[in-house]
Amino acid sequence: MAAPLPFVTEPERRTPVGGEYEVVVLGGGPAGIAAAAAAAAHGRKVLLVERYGFLGGMGTAAGVTNFCGLHANVFGEIKRVVHGVSGDLTARIDRLGGLNEPHLVLGKTCAQAYDTAAYKCAADDLLLSRGVDILFHALAVGIVKDNERRLNALLVETKSGRMAMRGQVFIDCSGDGDLAAFAGAAFEKGDMLFPSMMFRLNQVDPERAGEAWRTVPALMQEAEKRGASFPRKGAILRPQKHTREWRVNVTQVKTSDGRPVDGTDAREFARGEIEGRKQALAFFDFLKREAPGFAEAYIVDIPPQLGIRETRRVTGQYRLTAEDVVGCADFDDTVGVNGWPLEMHVAGDVVWRWPDIPGSRGYNHLPYRMLVPVDANGEAFDNLLVAGRCASMTHEGQSAARVSGACFVMGEAAGTAAHLSLAGNARCPDIPAGTLQTALERGGVFLGRP
Ligand SMILES: Cc1cc2nc3c(=O)[nH]c(=O)nc-3n(C[C@H](O)[C@H](O)[C@H](O)COP(=O)(O)OP(=O)(O)OC[C@H]3O[C@@H](n4cnc5c(N)ncnc54)[C@H](O)[C@@H]3O)c2cc1C
Repeated sequence: MAAPLPFVTEPERRTPVGGEYEVVVLGGGPAGIAAAAAAAAHGRKVLLVERYGFLGGMGTAAGVTNFCGLHANVFGEIKRVVHGVSGDLTARIDRLGGLNEPHLVLGKTCAQAYDTAAYKCAADDLLLSRGVDILFHALAVGIVKDNERRLNALLVETKSGRMAMRGQVFIDCSGDGDLAAFAGAAFEKGDMLFPSMMFRLNQVDPERAGEAWRTVPALMQEAEKRGASFPRKGAILRPQKHTREWRVNVTQVKTSDGRPVDGTDAREFARGEIEGRKQALAFFDFLKREAPGFAEAYIVDIPPQLGIRETRRVTGQYRLTAEDVVGCADFDDTVGVNGWPLEMHVAGDVVWRWPDIPGSRGYNHLPYRMLVPVDANGEAFDNLLVAGRCASMTHEGQSAARVSGACFVMGEAAGTAAHLSLAGNARCPDIPAGTLQTALERGGVFLGRP
């Protein structure tokens, strides 16, 4: 057994208060963007804290460049089912010329690609237009509480030093459940989806590349017969808005003992970045040699970070399950819908499970209780909500509702609930579902009810 690490004792410190807000949102991914935009639309004074210098979360920082879960296959007809804040955002990306038309995924539903630069700029504009205060380059490192159930301030480290950002309601959209973990919420982190290092190519010949997402996996199988090996089966290669630019989603990054790299383990995460870039180079080499249309291509971008699909799943009043997703579950406290299937990035492969298509409505409700974290005794907090890929779900449930569409839905619900909590002087867990649903529908959210 490894010897325990030694400790140092830091001197006690007085931390300046960097601001006083009604709503403090941690994380600028789809959930955080929607949470901040929704709370601010109701006139709340909102702060969004983000460790990078741009918004978008995995969608930009990890080079995802593609929205899944905005659409669902409703009894055989593919429809957009996520609106609200995400509608405003995609319209802004489109106005910047950075949004693709939706494309078919496995013949069953649609996803929609975008340019990262347009996403970053559109998200800035969206939040500024609603009066959100954005603190970039700020890493959240802890919290201060009034008592066991009530949070007072989020502690952040910035280039101007450590600051305490006071709030009345806090929303954890960090993807990793950092804020909820600081607050003492229960969480699970065991089974995790494998991460991937995305990358993008330029100077692809789109005519020759054709439907490479179909042909390249066959080339990989041929190469394997000759002794080549790949980190995972299948390959997602698709053109971006400008058809010579393609995104590539093929890598799978694991530890030396075969586990998924844990994005909340500093050393594993660091090693994962290097391994991810090595895999990207190796696959690019294969593409150039073997795949038509890629001979002149070059890597135009390896994103700022390894793409982390799953770490902590914060335990809430309800955990969304695989059965909920494939069975298109109904909940009385629905705050919107998830239309994406289970997409399990397991060792060496990606395994899908869909609701009945075309026999079902193709989406499940997302209940408000997923957003209400509890501690080890099952007690909720007065003023803490969680939204996005770290919300309350089982490992399988998370493989579906982690995608952007459902994260926008959860964020918008959490931001709206934060407003209602302040308006009604009520604890977050006590917001009446009907009041929340009315407010969400007024904002254009589709709750999935007839
Ligand atoms: C490789 C890969 C491919 C994917 N492909 C798709 C796809 O095609 N389509 C799709 O819709 N989804 C896809 N996903 C999933 C999707 O991108 C994410 O699950 C989604 O972005 C989650 O949104 P979120 O807002 O919950 O969290 P995130 O997007 O993870 O955003 C969290 C934000 O919080 C910030 N943050 C975290 N901790 C702190 C801290 N302590 N202090 C300050 N800031 C902090 C992060 O920097 C980040 O900006 C993919 C994910 C990966 C990894």
